[in-house]
Amino acid sequence: MTSTAGSRYIQRLNDGRRVWLNGNIVPDIRSSPAFRGTIESVAAIMDLQDDPSVEQQLTFIAETGARANLAFLIPEQKEDLFRRSHSFKLWSDATFGVMSRVGGFYRSQLTGWHIAKGLIRDEQPQFAQKISDYFAYVRDNDLLLTAAGHDPQIDRTKLASELGDLYTAVRIVRETEDGIIVRGAKMIATGGPYMDEIMVSPHSKKTGDEQQYAVMFAIPVNQEGVHLICRESFASERDEWEDHPLSAHYDEMDAVLVFEDALIPWERVFIKEDPEAIWKIRSDRTVSSLSLHENIVRLVSKLEFTATVGNELAESIGITRFAHVQDKLAELFFQLESIRSLLLSAEHHAIYSPHGVWEPALQPILTAKNLGNRYYPRALEILQQLSGAGMLQVPSTIAELRGPLGTQLQTYYRGADRGAEERVRLLKLAWELVGSQLGARHELYERFYAGDPVRTYAGQYTEYDKQALLDKALRISV
Ligand SMILES: Cc1cc2nc3c(=O)[nH]c(=O)nc-3n(C[C@H](O)[C@H](O)[C@H](O)COP(=O)(O)OP(=O)(O)OC[C@H]3O[C@@H](n4cnc5c(N)ncnc54)[C@H](O)[C@@H]3O)c2cc1C
Repeated sequence: MTSTAGSRYIQRLNDGRRVWLNGNIVPDIRSSPAFRGTIESVAAIMDLQDDPSVEQQLTFIAETGARANLAFLIPEQKEDLFRRSHSFKLWSDATFGVMSRVGGFYRSQLTGWHIAKGLIRDEQPQFAQKISDYFAYVRDNDLLLTAAGHDPQIDRTKLASELGDLYTAVRIVRETEDGIIVRGAKMIATGGPYMDEIMVSPHSKKTGDEQQYAVMFAIPVNQEGVHLICRESFASERDEWEDHPLSAHYDEMDAVLVFEDALIPWERVFIKEDPEAIWKIRSDRTVSSLSLHENIVRLVSKLEFTATVGNELAESIGITRFAHVQDKLAELFFQLESIRSLLLSAEHHAIYSPHGVWEPALQPILTAKNLGNRYYPRALEILQQLSGAGMLQVPSTIAELRGPLGTQLQTYYRGADRGAEERVRLLKLAWELVGSQLGARHELYERFYAGDPVRTYAGQYTEYDKQALLDKALRISV
């Protein structure tokens, strides 16, 4: 039997990775109930690349002859941005926008780094070759990627270097012939346990006093000396899957990375002890717009999902004719249409960048990202308002509707337009989105995943071309 992308992915996971959960290393995450459901979901998504009906829409043939995911396509034509967008949407829809790392987020960031490699040719001459080799390796082997950039919180008023010998943030301890030895922690690598590779670099600009902390590298997840410390799992046992449809299938897991004097070989050390060069690459406009592009496509899938659940909640108890309910449902559609319009605007007003590729226009895409931080929590609030206590008026398991009290429960739990089982399924799905541990985690994710919103909003303000607006307004006095 020929192997598929999904089966090859599952095989790769048994590689000795040190994934810690509940105080122990999980010997093989493939057989752990905490991870199994999500692994099956990821494999199914990867298998789409072998499905003849969508293969062409998800992959392209790279110059090496490898069939590669479209997140690695260099957008040399404007049309390529639309191809990338369509493929992101197919993958995002497969998990209703709930999973963020199987999509092209960090694959697109890596594609961006590869595109922008010439930017630091003078100060870091080795970067271009190393990043291109790594890009080709990840692309041609169809590897899944996440990234970790944040230093442990500890004391945000201090630089990493000011925390003394605590070695809290990842830093270079020493160099050997083979590479650098790094020690410290990075937070948090979403999806870490499920990935093939993790890219590590500082999320914020390091200062001249923090040279040892200014290091950008990539590791395989099973890197010797690296531990992945997982938060609590939200996944349930297989027999409870019908009651926890999202937690059972799409719990991406977040993990803190602990580096215990890990040796990073030179070919994977992209930049070291150069805060300026790292920042130049990390803040490059093309890199940002390519990775945010994928984020916004995924957000559209997620807002489609929340709007659908909201509408169904209202339909299921016959409240859609109340004006305030229509107002709330309309707000969910406004959210969706606003983000979709910003996405289209970014794509249609794409810019031919100095790197010789097409990039989505950054302002609409940044606006979509920043609005998304606010829209998603508001969408969850609307679902609560539409449900009242409905989401809690459910038996503990759907199976009870088929049990000894089934006839009575079928009567009391039915909806205005549907039977009890269909309504209870909907309510449990809504609770997963709004009230479950996974739901709370997603609210936090949408607020913070691309940085502290306080600072990303401020960043959009400071970078905005205010002069162009002023120039127009000044015409009034001419
Ligand atoms: C679910 C989830 C998944 C994530 N996945 C990833 C991932 O895969 N990879 C990754 O790299 N990151 C990931 N992140 C991290 C995310 O990028 C950070 O949470 C975000 O940038 C904020 O950083 P922080 O959490 O360290 O909070 P902090 O920066 O510590 O902020 C905490 C609070 O302090 C305030 N604050 C702190 N410092 C300042 C300051 N200098 N000025 C003003 N206010 C300040 C903030 O405004 C905020 O209110 C994820 C986050 C979440 C919630």
